[in-house]
Amino acid sequence: MVREDALAYFSDPGRCEEINCPACSCDQTVFEFEKFGFNYHSCPDCGTLFVNPRPKLVFLEDFYVNSPSSRFWAEEFFKPVAEARREKIFRPRAKHFNNLITTDDEITVGDIGAGYGLFLEELSKLRKNVRPFAIEPSPEMAAICKTKNFEVLESIIEKIEGYDSSFDFLCSFELFEHLHTPATMLTAAFKLLKPGGSLLLTTLNGKGFDIQLLWEKSKSVFPPHHLNFCSPDSLSLLLNKVGFEVLEAETPGVLDWDIIEGNIKRDQFSADRFWNSIADHASIECKQDLQSWITKHKLSSHMRLVARKPIQS
Ligand SMILES: [Zn+2]
Repeated sequence: MVREDALAYFSDPGRCEEINCPACSCDQTVFEFEKFGFNYHSCPDCGTLFVNPRPKLVFLEDFYVNSPSSRFWAEEFFKPVAEARREKIFRPRAKHFNNLITTDDEITVGDIGAGYGLFLEELSKLRKNVRPFAIEPSPEMAAICKTKNFEVLESIIEKIEGYDSSFDFLCSFELFEHLHTPATMLTAAFKLLKPGGSLLLTTLNGKGFDIQLLWEKSKSVFPPHHLNFCSPDSLSLLLNKVGFEVLEAETPGVLDWDIIEGNIKRDQFSADRFWNSIADHASIECKQDLQSWITKHKLSSHMRLVARKPIQS
Protein backbone atom coordinates (compact mmCIF):
# COMPACT_ATOMS: atom_id res chain seq x y z
CA MET A 1 0.00 0.00 0.00
CA VAL A 2 2.81 2.42 0.86
CA ARG A 3 4.49 1.73 -2.47
CA GLU A 4 1.26 2.45 -4.34
CA ASP A 5 0.67 5.61 -2.30
CA ALA A 6 4.24 6.78 -2.83
CA LEU A 7 3.73 6.49 -6.59
CA ALA A 8 0.42 8.35 -6.46
CA TYR A 9 1.71 11.13 -4.18
CA PHE A 10 5.33 11.65 -5.18
CA SER A 11 6.05 10.39 -8.70
CA ASP A 12 5.74 13.99 -9.94
CA PRO A 13 9.31 15.31 -9.40
CA GLY A 14 7.85 18.78 -8.74
CA ARG A 15 6.52 17.46 -5.42
CA CYS A 16 10.04 16.72 -4.15
CA GLU A 17 13.03 18.90 -3.37
CA GLU A 18 16.80 18.57 -2.97
CA ILE A 19 18.21 19.12 0.52
CA ASN A 20 21.59 19.34 2.21
CA CYS A 21 22.56 16.84 4.93
CA PRO A 22 19.79 17.16 7.57
CA ALA A 23 22.33 16.82 10.41
CA CYS A 24 25.38 18.92 9.43
CA SER A 25 24.05 20.84 6.36
CA CYS A 26 26.89 19.55 4.13
CA ASP A 27 25.94 20.00 0.45
CA GLN A 28 28.28 17.33 -0.99
CA THR A 29 26.09 14.24 -0.69
CA VAL A 30 26.81 10.80 -2.16
CA PHE A 31 24.17 8.58 -3.85
CA GLU A 32 23.88 5.20 -2.10
CA PHE A 33 20.82 3.38 -3.50
CA GLU A 34 17.25 3.71 -4.76
CA LYS A 35 14.24 2.18 -2.98
CA PHE A 36 10.53 2.41 -3.91
CA GLY A 37 11.38 5.29 -6.26
CA PHE A 38 13.31 7.32 -3.64
CA ASN A 39 17.05 7.96 -3.62
CA TYR A 40 19.05 7.61 -0.43
CA HIS A 41 22.20 9.69 -0.10
CA SER A 42 24.89 9.68 2.57
CA CYS A 43 26.81 12.61 3.98
CA PRO A 44 30.59 12.34 3.52
CA ASP A 45 31.15 14.53 6.60
CA CYS A 46 28.89 13.08 9.31
CA GLY A 47 27.73 9.79 7.76
CA THR A 48 23.99 10.50 7.95
CA LEU A 49 21.89 8.47 5.47
CA PHE A 50 18.84 10.31 4.14
CA VAL A 51 16.25 10.54 1.37
CA ASN A 52 17.24 13.13 -1.22
CA PRO A 53 15.36 14.62 -3.00
CA ARG A 54 12.53 14.25 -0.48
CA PRO A 55 8.81 15.13 -0.58
CA LYS A 56 8.08 18.80 0.03
CA LEU A 57 6.53 19.37 3.45
CA VAL A 58 3.02 20.19 2.19
CA PHE A 59 2.82 16.95 0.19
CA LEU A 60 4.32 14.88 3.01
CA GLU A 61 1.70 16.21 5.44
CA ASP A 62 -1.04 15.39 2.93
CA PHE A 63 0.39 11.86 2.59
CA TYR A 64 0.35 11.30 6.37
CA VAL A 65 -3.20 12.56 6.83
CA ASN A 66 -4.98 11.29 3.73
CA SER A 67 -3.16 8.38 2.06
CA PRO A 68 -4.87 4.96 2.30
CA SER A 69 -1.71 3.38 3.76
CA SER A 70 -1.45 6.01 6.52
CA ARG A 71 -5.12 5.55 7.42
CA PHE A 72 -4.62 1.78 7.48
CA TRP A 73 -1.61 2.24 9.76
CA ALA A 74 -3.54 4.41 12.23
CA GLU A 75 -6.86 2.57 12.18
CA GLU A 76 -6.10 -1.08 11.39
CA PHE A 77 -2.56 -1.64 12.58
CA PHE A 78 -2.08 0.38 15.76
CA LYS A 79 -5.46 -0.25 17.41
CA PRO A 80 -5.31 -4.06 17.63
CA VAL A 81 -1.67 -4.04 18.81
CA ALA A 82 -1.99 -1.12 21.23
CA GLU A 83 -2.13 -3.25 24.39
CA ALA A 84 0.80 -5.43 23.30
CA ARG A 85 2.79 -2.26 22.57
CA ARG A 86 1.86 -0.86 25.98
CA GLU A 87 3.33 -3.92 27.67
CA LYS A 88 6.44 -4.38 25.51
CA ILE A 89 7.34 -0.80 24.63
CA PHE A 90 5.60 1.94 26.61
CA ARG A 91 5.84 0.52 30.14
CA PRO A 92 9.63 -0.07 29.96
CA ARG A 93 9.99 3.33 28.30
CA ALA A 94 8.10 5.05 31.14
CA LYS A 95 10.25 3.20 33.71
CA HIS A 96 13.47 4.36 32.05
CA PHE A 97 12.16 7.90 31.81
CA ASN A 98 11.06 7.91 35.45
CA ASN A 99 14.60 6.94 36.47
CA LEU A 100 15.95 10.05 34.74
CA ILE A 101 13.90 12.32 37.01
CA THR A 102 15.77 13.48 40.08
CA THR A 103 13.18 15.81 41.62
CA ASP A 104 10.02 15.17 43.67
CA ASP A 105 8.50 18.50 42.53
CA GLU A 106 5.74 18.53 39.94
CA ILE A 107 7.12 18.23 36.40
CA THR A 108 5.56 19.21 33.10
CA VAL A 109 6.09 16.51 30.46
CA GLY A 110 5.19 16.82 26.77
CA ASP A 111 5.08 13.78 24.49
CA ILE A 112 5.71 14.96 20.92
CA GLY A 113 3.60 12.73 18.68
CA ALA A 114 1.78 11.18 21.63
CA GLY A 115 -0.40 8.86 19.50
CA TYR A 116 -2.87 7.08 21.79
CA GLY A 117 -1.13 8.53 24.86
CA LEU A 118 0.19 5.19 26.11
CA PHE A 119 3.52 6.59 27.29
CA LEU A 120 1.90 9.40 29.29
CA GLU A 121 -0.58 6.95 30.80
CA GLU A 122 2.17 4.61 31.92
CA LEU A 123 4.24 7.51 33.27
CA SER A 124 1.25 8.84 35.22
CA LYS A 125 0.91 5.41 36.88
CA LEU A 126 4.52 5.65 38.08
CA ARG A 127 4.46 9.28 39.26
CA LYS A 128 1.62 11.25 40.79
CA ASN A 129 3.14 14.71 40.37
CA VAL A 130 3.27 14.80 36.57
CA ARG A 131 1.46 17.33 34.42
CA PRO A 132 1.14 15.46 31.11
CA PHE A 133 0.75 17.17 27.73
CA ALA A 134 0.00 15.21 24.58
CA ILE A 135 1.36 17.03 21.52
CA GLU A 136 -0.50 15.29 18.72
CA PRO A 137 -1.51 16.71 15.32
CA SER A 138 -3.82 13.85 14.23
CA PRO A 139 -7.43 14.79 15.15
CA GLU A 140 -8.38 11.11 15.72
CA MET A 141 -5.52 10.44 18.11
CA ALA A 142 -5.80 13.83 19.84
CA ALA A 143 -9.48 13.03 20.55
CA ILE A 144 -8.44 9.76 22.23
CA CYS A 145 -5.84 11.61 24.34
CA LYS A 146 -8.53 14.09 25.47
CA THR A 147 -10.52 11.22 26.99
CA LYS A 148 -7.51 10.39 29.17
CA ASN A 149 -7.33 13.67 31.10
CA PHE A 150 -4.14 14.95 29.51
CA GLU A 151 -3.75 18.47 28.33
CA VAL A 152 -3.75 18.12 24.56
CA LEU A 153 -2.01 20.43 22.09
CA GLU A 154 -3.53 19.39 18.76
CA SER A 155 -0.69 20.55 16.57
CA ILE A 156 2.72 19.69 15.26
CA ILE A 157 5.32 21.00 17.71
CA GLU A 158 6.69 23.48 15.16
CA LYS A 159 3.39 25.44 15.26
CA ILE A 160 2.75 25.60 19.02
CA GLU A 161 2.53 29.13 20.41
CA GLY A 162 2.23 30.45 23.95
CA TYR A 163 4.21 27.67 25.68
CA ASP A 164 7.80 28.96 25.44
CA SER A 165 10.00 27.81 28.36
CA SER A 166 7.08 25.79 29.81
CA PHE A 167 8.27 22.16 29.85
CA ASP A 168 10.60 20.32 32.22
CA PHE A 169 10.75 17.38 29.82
CA LEU A 170 9.86 16.70 26.21
CA CYS A 171 9.90 13.22 24.69
CA SER A 172 10.00 12.22 21.05
CA PHE A 173 9.81 8.49 20.33
CA GLU A 174 10.39 7.16 16.79
CA LEU A 175 9.46 10.47 15.20
CA PHE A 176 12.82 11.93 14.15
CA GLU A 177 13.27 9.52 11.21
CA HIS A 178 9.97 10.74 9.70
CA LEU A 179 10.67 14.48 9.84
CA HIS A 180 10.98 16.63 6.74
CA THR A 181 13.33 19.07 8.54
CA PRO A 182 14.70 17.61 11.81
CA ALA A 183 16.46 20.87 12.80
CA THR A 184 13.12 22.72 12.82
CA MET A 185 11.56 20.21 15.23
CA LEU A 186 14.57 20.33 17.56
CA THR A 187 14.57 24.15 17.52
CA ALA A 188 10.87 24.14 18.43
CA ALA A 189 11.53 21.69 21.29
CA PHE A 190 14.40 23.87 22.54
CA LYS A 191 12.09 26.88 22.64
CA LEU A 192 9.36 25.03 24.60
CA LEU A 193 11.75 23.67 27.25
CA LYS A 194 12.51 25.56 30.44
CA PRO A 195 16.21 26.38 30.89
CA GLY A 196 17.63 23.17 32.40
CA GLY A 197 14.80 21.12 30.83
CA SER A 198 15.55 17.95 28.88
CA LEU A 199 14.58 16.28 25.63
CA LEU A 200 14.49 12.49 25.42
CA LEU A 201 14.68 11.29 21.84
CA THR A 202 14.66 7.81 20.30
CA THR A 203 15.18 7.05 16.63
CA LEU A 204 16.92 4.73 14.18
CA ASN A 205 20.72 4.65 14.03
CA GLY A 206 21.93 4.44 10.43
CA LYS A 207 25.33 3.27 11.70
CA GLY A 208 23.67 0.39 13.55
CA PHE A 209 24.48 -3.28 13.01
CA ASP A 210 21.45 -4.57 11.13
CA ILE A 211 20.95 -1.43 9.03
CA GLN A 212 24.63 -1.39 8.01
CA LEU A 213 24.57 -5.09 7.05
CA LEU A 214 21.19 -5.09 5.29
CA TRP A 215 21.41 -1.54 3.91
CA GLU A 216 18.72 -1.06 1.23
CA LYS A 217 17.22 -4.46 2.17
CA SER A 218 16.58 -3.30 5.76
CA LYS A 219 12.87 -3.07 6.55
CA SER A 220 13.71 0.05 8.56
CA VAL A 221 14.84 1.72 5.35
CA PHE A 222 11.28 2.50 4.37
CA PRO A 223 10.48 5.59 2.30
CA PRO A 224 8.67 7.91 2.37
CA HIS A 225 8.19 7.15 6.10
CA HIS A 226 11.82 6.88 7.14
CA LEU A 227 13.76 9.81 5.71
CA ASN A 228 16.60 10.39 8.21
CA PHE A 229 19.15 7.93 9.62
CA CYS A 230 21.56 9.76 11.88
CA SER A 231 24.10 8.10 14.20
CA PRO A 232 24.68 8.92 17.90
CA ASP A 233 27.52 11.20 16.74
CA SER A 234 25.71 13.02 13.95
CA LEU A 235 22.55 13.48 16.02
CA SER A 236 24.66 14.86 18.88
CA LEU A 237 26.21 17.27 16.39
CA LEU A 238 22.78 18.50 15.31
CA LEU A 239 21.54 18.82 18.91
CA ASN A 240 24.65 20.88 19.78
CA LYS A 241 24.04 23.11 16.75
CA VAL A 242 20.51 23.86 18.01
CA GLY A 243 21.92 24.72 21.46
CA PHE A 244 21.44 21.51 23.46
CA GLU A 245 24.01 19.79 25.68
CA VAL A 246 23.94 16.03 25.06
CA LEU A 247 23.84 14.19 28.40
CA GLU A 248 23.45 10.62 27.14
CA ALA A 249 23.78 8.94 23.75
CA GLU A 250 23.23 5.19 23.76
CA THR A 251 21.88 2.41 21.59
CA PRO A 252 19.74 0.21 23.84
CA GLY A 253 18.39 -1.84 20.88
CA VAL A 254 18.22 -5.60 21.38
CA LEU A 255 16.98 -6.95 18.04
CA ASP A 256 19.94 -6.40 15.67
CA TRP A 257 21.18 -9.99 15.63
CA ASP A 258 17.64 -11.46 15.55
CA ILE A 259 16.89 -9.33 12.50
CA ILE A 260 20.05 -10.47 10.68
CA GLU A 261 19.52 -14.12 11.59
CA GLY A 262 15.90 -13.94 10.45
CA ASN A 263 16.96 -12.50 7.10
CA ILE A 264 19.66 -15.17 6.64
CA LYS A 265 17.31 -18.04 7.53
CA ARG A 266 14.56 -16.78 5.25
CA ASP A 267 17.10 -16.47 2.40
CA GLN A 268 16.32 -12.78 2.10
CA PHE A 269 19.89 -11.69 2.59
CA SER A 270 23.13 -13.10 1.32
CA ALA A 271 25.48 -12.67 4.28
CA ASP A 272 29.16 -13.50 4.14
CA ARG A 273 30.58 -16.80 5.38
CA PHE A 274 31.23 -15.63 8.94
CA TRP A 275 27.70 -14.41 9.68
CA ASN A 276 26.15 -17.46 7.98
CA SER A 277 28.24 -19.65 10.25
CA ILE A 278 27.14 -17.72 13.36
CA ALA A 279 23.49 -18.03 12.31
CA ASP A 280 23.78 -21.79 11.70
CA HIS A 281 26.18 -22.98 14.38
CA ALA A 282 26.71 -20.49 17.21
CA SER A 283 25.23 -21.13 20.65
CA ILE A 284 22.45 -18.99 22.09
CA GLU A 285 24.95 -17.58 24.58
CA CYS A 286 27.28 -16.57 21.74
CA LYS A 287 24.41 -14.74 20.00
CA GLN A 288 23.35 -13.04 23.23
CA ASP A 289 26.94 -11.93 23.87
CA LEU A 290 27.14 -10.58 20.34
CA GLN A 291 23.97 -8.53 20.87
CA SER A 292 25.25 -7.26 24.25
CA TRP A 293 28.50 -6.19 22.56
CA ILE A 294 26.53 -4.39 19.80
CA THR A 295 24.41 -2.56 22.39
CA LYS A 296 27.32 -1.75 24.70
CA HIS A 297 29.43 -0.20 21.95
CA LYS A 298 26.61 1.98 20.59
CA LEU A 299 26.26 -0.09 17.44
CA SER A 300 22.60 -1.06 17.66
CA SER A 301 20.17 0.35 15.10
CA HIS A 302 17.89 1.76 17.82
CA MET A 303 19.29 4.79 19.64
CA ARG A 304 18.27 7.00 22.56
CA LEU A 305 19.62 10.44 23.40
CA VAL A 306 19.00 12.75 26.32
CA ALA A 307 19.80 16.42 25.69
CA ARG A 308 19.43 19.42 28.00
CA LYS A 309 18.70 23.05 27.31
CA PRO A 310 21.48 24.86 29.20
CA ILE A 311 20.35 26.70 32.35
CA GLN A 312 21.78 29.91 30.95
CA SER A 313 20.27 30.13 27.48
ZN1 LIG B 1 26.25 15.54 7.47
